[in-house]
This record gives sequence, C-alpha cells and structure tokens, in this order.
Amino acid sequence: MKVLIRGGTLVRCDAAGTVADGDLLVDDGRIAALGRVTSPTARSGRNGGGREHELVRVIDARGCAVIPGFVQAHIHLCQVLFRGMADDLPLLAWLEQRIWPYEAAHDDASLAASAELGLLEMMLAGTTTLLDMGTVHGYDAVFDACNRAGVRVFGGKTMMDAGDGVPKGLRETTASSLREADRLRARWSGKGGGRLQYAYAPRFILSCTEALFRGTVERANADGGGALLHSHVAEHPDEREAVRRALGDTDVAMLRKWGFKGKNTLLAHGVQLTDSEMSAVARDGTRIVHCPSANLKLGSGIARVHELARRGVKVALGADGAPCNNNLDPWVELRHAALLAKVRTGVTTLPARQALELATIEGARALGIDDEVGSLEVGKRADLAVVRMDGPHIEPGGDAWSRLVYGCTSRDVVHVMVDGELVVRDREHTRLDHERVLARARAQAKKLVARAEA
Ligand SMILES: [Zn+2]
Repeated sequence: MKVLIRGGTLVRCDAAGTVADGDLLVDDGRIAALGRVTSPTARSGRNGGGREHELVRVIDARGCAVIPGFVQAHIHLCQVLFRGMADDLPLLAWLEQRIWPYEAAHDDASLAASAELGLLEMMLAGTTTLLDMGTVHGYDAVFDACNRAGVRVFGGKTMMDAGDGVPKGLRETTASSLREADRLRARWSGKGGGRLQYAYAPRFILSCTEALFRGTVERANADGGGALLHSHVAEHPDEREAVRRALGDTDVAMLRKWGFKGKNTLLAHGVQLTDSEMSAVARDGTRIVHCPSANLKLGSGIARVHELARRGVKVALGADGAPCNNNLDPWVELRHAALLAKVRTGVTTLPARQALELATIEGARALGIDDEVGSLEVGKRADLAVVRMDGPHIEPGGDAWSRLVYGCTSRDVVHVMVDGELVVRDREHTRLDHERVLARARAQAKKLVARAEA
C-alpha cells in the first residue's frame, strides 16, 4: 500500500538543510516522492482489462512537521524494568550494587517485558532505529521483542569475562561469551526484513579481557565486516582512575591497541576524552555516542560534542538506560545535547539544526546506514515521524528547527513509520498493546526484584 503524507512541513535533514511545506509519498517501504504530489488514486489493470484502484492511505499532516525517525545509538533495553530502582549512586557502585544484580536476575519473560516497555516508550516518541546492548544471557528475547515491535535495531548481548564485583550469574568465559554472541548473530542478523543486525558488545574495559575484545574485533572485521562493535569508554572520572590503576593506561589507549576502533565501532560517552584522545578517535574513524542525560544523572560530566565534531568525529545520540536517565526520550536527549553544548563550549555551538541532525542523519551515519535512512530523500527507506507543531507550547511560529528542538516534546509525535509501515498511528503503537505491555512490565519487575533479593 502507498501512503501519502499530505500538507506537512518537511524538515528533511538533508545536506542542504531543506525545510519546505509539501507532501511525502511512500511506496513499497521507501520515499517515492517529495514536494507537491498528486494523489495516485488509480492505474490501469495489468492485463488491459479494466482499471483497478491502488490502495492509498492519506495522512493529513497539516500543522505538523515530518522529520526523519530518531536514531538512538546507545540503549539498554534489558534495564528498562529497573527504572526508578537505582538512583543517585556513583557509576561503579550503581553497576555493582544495582544494575548487575538486577541483570543477573533476569529470565526470558522479564527480558521480553523490559524490551517491550522500552520499545513502546521510544517508538511512541519517534525513535525508529537503535543500537542496543543487552545483558549476558537471554538476548534472543530482546531480538524477538524488537522483531515484533517493528523497530530497526543493531543489538547484541553484553560480554563480561573479567572484573571485580561481577555476580556469578553474569560471569562467562571468553570462549563461551564469543560462542553465544556468534550464535545470536547467526540466528538474528538480517531477520525482520533486514531490520535486525548484530553488534558485538563487550561491556567495558573493567569487565572484559584483552582476548575478548580482540575476539570481537576479529569477528566484526572478518569477511569485509558486517557487524558493529559497541562498548563504553571514558565515562566517569572515578572509572577512568580505576582503569588506570588496573591497566596502567586509559581505556581508549588500550582499546586502540587491541584494534577495537574504526568506522564500525561505536563507543558510548567519551566524556573524559582528552584533546589528544579525541584526535586519535577522529583519525581512527571511531564513533562516539553522546548520552547527555545519563552523563548528568551519574555525575559523569558533559562530553565536548562540539570539539569532537570539529575534529571530524561522527557523533550520535542515545538515552542509555532507564535506570540512569530515567527516560528513553529522544527529544530530551537532543534538547539536553543542544543546551549543554552552550554551557560547555559556548552559546553558538550546536544550534538547533545541528542538534536535530545529531539525532537523525548523524546517528544513521555513525551506524553506517545513512544511505538508507536518517533523512527524507527520494529512494531512502521511509523511517519517519509526523510531529504536531501547533500546540500552545510551540506556537505561534518561528523557525522549524527551533520549534522542534527547543519546543516540541515526545507527546507531539502523532505517527511513526519504519520501512513505510505505520508502527505508531494516532499516538498508538500498532504492533504492541499498550495496556498489556505496561501490565506485564509491572508484574515482571516485581518478580525480578524478588529474585534479585532472594
Ligand atoms: Zn550504557
């Protein structure tokens, strides 16, 4: 079925920064036309016998912006059930006292419930693509939930074969960790019409051996690549100190030495990066994922996004996990990114247009899928959101970039499309049952906490 989105303000996030009123036609999952589109209501029958009417759904987008779907390049769907249960703790205590014990208490049912709740929240807000890091076990349940929800995802189990304070339930050997990751990749990569892809995700340097990092590098780079590498670096000053004590150097220096770098590598945070590390990351082509809310809540600091971008580092945005944010709301992240840049590097840095690009086309670029998604251009996949721009908190007018970045919230998102399919229609998810997802999440969160405390 074709879908005609009629009469919106198309904020295309293309190279020219085009913003223009018009229509957008979706055909067979891709953007077929932009601008003034006459309604394709009928065509001749194939056998010359009479006429058949093509099915065209028309979406009235008057008063709305049409934007590319958000790309969130650092998420932990497995942690959504822990929302509100791990507040106001420093990073390493937060991990060891709360997050790891809760992750260790997961089973398939709680993982599915956690992923569904996170997906519901993110997709209703206009997220169409994410890079997710799971827990050690049970990632099939997360891929399955992503597949059912219709999101585009790069995902993978987290990998942990070393470190202090890791509960028994999360400990694995280097070989078993790599074996399980390979199994998941073989089972899920390319599924869901190509929307599911694998990302090897050694958690961070304090919980992984050199052999594990090197093993993931070998796999991701074998046969010309095809999988991403995903980890955390340079998040908190205390963590940085612990890394230096344990390894005698910084995590960035060690990861670079072990080959965990390059265009298929996405590292979350990078808050503590020095000037020379930023330059090295730029030379390598490694991507950095800025998670402004999580960095604030864990007291980690403010990443120098402007300095990274100035050096040519591809930067994406992500909400990180529910227990360190506590929302997975792309609007909050892009607003925080824009506002924090003013404080960190001056009021002229990261203007509204650039902030929206960070959340869309730059995210796609960081993931290496910018030729397919991330902007509204003919031939690209129809991953997009229709956003009301006529609420009292956004009117009466002004620049579209400004209204979206500084004014709009997730509640303004009306429709969301992935691959041309309306996954959110009139603020309702079309694949996930809102009430059921909430009820399951509440029940599973209780059970999980009971297991963790048993
Ligand atoms: Zn994270």
